[in-house]
Amino acid sequence: MLLSVEQFEARHGLLQAVRGVTLHVAAGETLALVGANGAGKTTLLRGIAGAHKASAGRVKFDGTDITALPAYARVPLGIALVPEGRKLFGGMTTQDNLRVAERRGRPGKWNVETVVQAFPQLQPKLTALARNLSGGQQQAVAIGRALMSNPRLLLLDEVSLGLSPVAVEQLYASLRGLMRDGTTIVLVEQDLTRALAVADRVVCMLEGRVVFEGLAAETTREEVLSAYFGVGT
Ligand code: ATP
Repeated sequence: MLLSVEQFEARHGLLQAVRGVTLHVAAGETLALVGANGAGKTTLLRGIAGAHKASAGRVKFDGTDITALPAYARVPLGIALVPEGRKLFGGMTTQDNLRVAERRGRPGKWNVETVVQAFPQLQPKLTALARNLSGGQQQAVAIGRALMSNPRLLLLDEVSLGLSPVAVEQLYASLRGLMRDGTTIVLVEQDLTRALAVADRVVCMLEGRVVFEGLAAETTREEVLSAYFGVGT
């Protein structure tokens, strides 16, 4: 397994946002994390990236226990997070936003040119300021920036949030290319139909726990939805 999360727990003060989550992701696999608002998906994803501390449990990456490592020390190992809300430098150009991640990552195929090949909508925008890009273009920059560190594991937090249907389609076309190339991905996605369409496996969280796990191809929307709302669990 490339990623193993074992009995992972994380808190926001007194609130226990993630409660004893265990999940595994094989190299080359795409796992979709779904669940209602507040289910703990973002906290779990940040926990995998090292941006949120575990209060119990372990995160193992390629067999090594990385639970104690902060986020900056996980990037060179090959873990990259595309955070909710993109967090770009608005006053910097597209290419400078991409290059920010260059120094901290691993050697590999990703550079400004290969990012533009994967996200062609960025080609005419390389010297534009990030704040002047459309939402879809900004999200493409955020994913491109994560790729620039040549990750072995890409963590995507609600990349389609707030985008137009056309922009979402364009973004997912690029993501499908990454998946075909064997990039290992864990993605948080609100759109169940899309999650089931793109992922190999789906994990549904409810109130901090995993309440459903299945192969996307063998899972119906209805099955996930009943787990989503806690029906019959
Ligand atoms: P969403 O889709 O709304 O982002 P989520 O499934 O990603 O939901 P989290 O954002 O991980 O869920 O939140 C899990 C729980 O932790 C929720 O009850 C939320 O209110 C709480 N929480 C999240 N961030 C904070 C914070 N910074 N301070 C306090 N509580 C928080």
